[in-house]
Amino acid sequence: MLKDIFGYPAFRGRQAEIIDALVSGRDCLVLMPTGGGKSLCYQIPALLREGTGVVVSPLIALMQDQVAALKELGVRAAFLNSTLSSGEALAIERALAVGELDLLYVAPERLLTPRCLDLLARTRIALFAVDEAHCVSQWGHDFRPEYIQLSVLHERFPEVPRIALTATADRVTREEIVERLKLGDAEIFIASFDRPNIRYQIVEKANARKQLLDFIRAEHGGEAGIVYCLSRRKVEETAAFLGEQGIRALPYHAGMDALARETNQSRFQREDGIVMVATIAFGMGIDKPDVRFVAHLDLPKSIEGYYQETGRAGRDGLPADAWMAYGLADVVQLRRMMAESEADEQYKRVAAAKLDAMLGLCETVRCRRVRLLDYFGEATGSLGPCGNCDTCLDPPEVWDGTTAAQKLLSAIYRTGQRFGAGHVIDVLLGRATDRVNQWRHAGLSTFGVGTELSDQEWRGVARQLVASGLLAVDHDAYGAFKLTEASRAVLKGEQPVSLRKQAPKARPAKKKRLAAFDGLSAVEAGLYERLRAWRADAARAHGVPAYVILHDATLRDIAHLRPGSLDALRAISGVGARKIEAYGEQILKRVADET
Ligand code: ADP
Ligand code: ZN
Repeated sequence: MLKDIFGYPAFRGRQAEIIDALVSGRDCLVLMPTGGGKSLCYQIPALLREGTGVVVSPLIALMQDQVAALKELGVRAAFLNSTLSSGEALAIERALAVGELDLLYVAPERLLTPRCLDLLARTRIALFAVDEAHCVSQWGHDFRPEYIQLSVLHERFPEVPRIALTATADRVTREEIVERLKLGDAEIFIASFDRPNIRYQIVEKANARKQLLDFIRAEHGGEAGIVYCLSRRKVEETAAFLGEQGIRALPYHAGMDALARETNQSRFQREDGIVMVATIAFGMGIDKPDVRFVAHLDLPKSIEGYYQETGRAGRDGLPADAWMAYGLADVVQLRRMMAESEADEQYKRVAAAKLDAMLGLCETVRCRRVRLLDYFGEATGSLGPCGNCDTCLDPPEVWDGTTAAQKLLSAIYRTGQRFGAGHVIDVLLGRATDRVNQWRHAGLSTFGVGTELSDQEWRGVARQLVASGLLAVDHDAYGAFKLTEASRAVLKGEQPVSLRKQAPKARPAKKKRLAAFDGLSAVEAGLYERLRAWRADAARAHGVPAYVILHDATLRDIAHLRPGSLDALRAISGVGARKIEAYGEQILKRVADET
């Protein structure tokens, strides 16, 4: 079934075990990173077991594409959600009742209606799959109240096996899923969360927009990507800026009207090479496999969020980038948002710990990937540096920042713990600004003692001290710095401070990595382009996104291997029986033309 229908030669990771467990009627909880291959874990059992597999999925916008992709594979799939007319819904309900569906995708609010539950009670059900199961968690930003009521599935259909799937891996969320969905007896499968094809890169913010533009131009011209920003305004401004620079960028945030949002999402999904500039409202359930980069212009609140967002890059397994620009203002802003939130103390404590872990990732001088996997509790003792992140490729220098830290803390103390970075750094650099004159700070013993570092370097020192808790920000006093107990230890010389050196040199422009072209000869690259053009036509004719016809990685293999027969074509990963039937001859013809 794997090869015949889906076209793949081998299972990935633990897919086979999960499928075995589900087929034999056991409940499963699957934690697998984005792009790990969760869908197959319930699609194949749904086909193997008698009856229809019912998939609960929170994003109706994407059910359509998922179902279209399954139909392209010859699977009898349908969806039930509010986009259907009552006539269309009725036809699907009838098909379900007479056993003509292998898979049915349902929105949770629809599933929970008495009408739908009654309908299912009269149907033979192969399994229930609860996708994006972390939506039951009140801690996460994807919380969906209807998800909590999904425990009804267990109560009403105790004999039907259930599988819950998520890419959120932390223990708290996992326990919440088990408890709320009544999955106490489920077998738990935790896949490795490593995404080896993603290159992690966190740069110091200097002029973020310009840095982003340089990054896109140098590494991802004409390719699809996602840029995350914290606020709606910044989304709008950044999308407009990229547009002016000739990049096809579209905005997406919750403040836009639903139609504009849907249009942009659908263009991103269907067209080649669009950059989506978005708040974190965008992304859950996006299954576009050829997103080549995910960029963050603002610091995510947690490693879970960062990992989920960056995980949307490179689902097809080809090289992809996770790029982030981060600076002192990000730390100050997030700490302030947290302090000002109305949440209860327990929530704030959890949130603060998550932010600290995120800051630790930004400031680490070790391999980013090892740090990430460590956070998700993977035994990393055996894991060496990955060789595919910025700290591995271009190791940062560490320097003894004890004296610098003492100077900074002392300047903060002597100016009365009333000022933020700008003024304190002016004092260190000995600048006679209006404010320095007004407060008579030129007479302080710390005035002008810090000329060995630049403005930007001092910001780096401040950021690292705040990130590691050696310095605090007073949110009641407009973000003024204030000393903590830990600062005193530094001032007294009891606590040495080691800091990460900023990269002053402009990084040498890396050779543009055109993922799909890697290792193709000129003739093969020409064939690849022609196959893509053919695929675009086929996709338009079928009304589906291009990747639903065939993935980039599959086209690339075809261009490279240049199969001369249907059997040779069948051997390529991603080519199943239905694709051979529908497109085999067309593809062979294009290969033959080129050879
Ligand atoms: P997830 O839901 O975990 O994010 P998907 O189920 O969308 O991931 O799968 C990610 C990509 O990997 C899809 O393009 C899918 O077709 C592909 N894939 C899944 N399983 C395999 C496999 N065994 N071999 C090759 N490709 C696979
Ligand atoms: Zn690394």
